[in-house]
Amino acid sequence: MGRVALEFNERVRRIPTYPAAAGYSLGPEVAMLASNESPFQPLPAVLAAAGRALEGANRYPDPHSSRLRHALADRYEIPVGRVAVGNGSCDVLLAAGEALLEPGAEVVYAWPSFSIYPHLAAASGARAIEVPLDAEDRHDLGAMAAEVTAATRLLIACNPNNPTSTAVPLAEIEQLLGDVPRHVCVILDEAYCEFSVQEDPDASLELLRAHPNLVLLRTFSKVHGLCGLRVGFGLCGSEDFRIAVDKVRQPFFLNAAAQAAAREALRHGDEVLDRVERTIAERLGLEEELRELGLEPAESQANFLWFGLGEEREEAQIVSGLAERGVLVRAGSALGREGFLRVTVGAARENARLLAGLRELL
Ligand SMILES: *Cc1c(COP(=O)(O)O)cnc(C)c1O
Repeated sequence: MGRVALEFNERVRRIPTYPAAAGYSLGPEVAMLASNESPFQPLPAVLAAAGRALEGANRYPDPHSSRLRHALADRYEIPVGRVAVGNGSCDVLLAAGEALLEPGAEVVYAWPSFSIYPHLAAASGARAIEVPLDAEDRHDLGAMAAEVTAATRLLIACNPNNPTSTAVPLAEIEQLLGDVPRHVCVILDEAYCEFSVQEDPDASLELLRAHPNLVLLRTFSKVHGLCGLRVGFGLCGSEDFRIAVDKVRQPFFLNAAAQAAAREALRHGDEVLDRVERTIAERLGLEEELRELGLEPAESQANFLWFGLGEEREEAQIVSGLAERGVLVRAGSALGREGFLRVTVGAARENARLLAGLRELL
């Protein structure tokens, strides 16, 4: 068959393809260390809640996700009107782009950072201002604030940052918020904040009181291990943001099983904390082993590590060598910096396999 002659619009031609990791068709014997997923299966109570919700799948889900949003409002002590939810936090991000950006507007974010951010400018026709990370691979918040103009509608800071794993102290975020005018929406993407030993994950909530333009973006994908169900949320400084992102999406964007599972997951904080501690312990061990191999991982506050391979090693060769050994990791070139690897902290057995592979290949 020949190629179809459909004429897609300018927008489609601009939007980059998201660099999703490969390997989803492979069997369970592969160590999946490419997407920062949790190695732990969902808790039994969470699976049971999702199963019960499926029994009512002949009905549409609650379009307001009321019970989930109330549970989040209780957990984080903010008014329910300021809790936005989404089909993954990426859904909230894309909706924010749609609600805030347009040709002539600007969006500021760091680079390398999360691969979905470039999509926002491309989809809207806004200008993307990508601010390089500092020498320690951390956000350079001063340089980012300096890029804000009258045209800036959105500034995104990813803390801890994907793919570099580094975090900036909350005091620096607070200073940024002081430097940025109120017309700029600031999204603090905290997908990994629970894995940081630098800061209490609840500490940033305090910033919402003084900054109505702030949105803390969180997700059930990483710490709760529910990325297959797609639930994310924004804790907003004002109701306006939530109303706008709800307006630009279809009415039933969050399915019933996801709503129920996320609500149940919030009731198991202790078990989640236990899993976080186990992941951090694995991270520290993996970091040490990588250093013994002569690698220098960035200071990680997340559930993954980021390191350069050095001048004389080919990134593609290492990535495919690891894949041949049943270990999937992310190549830096797909994430904005060639010659680096991003590896998820997996289960002990997976991490051991990664190390064995690296020992052979380096
Ligand atoms: C994984 C990740 C997310 C979560 O995306 P979901 O759509 O909630 O699965 C958000 N931000 C960053 C930086 C991430 O790495």
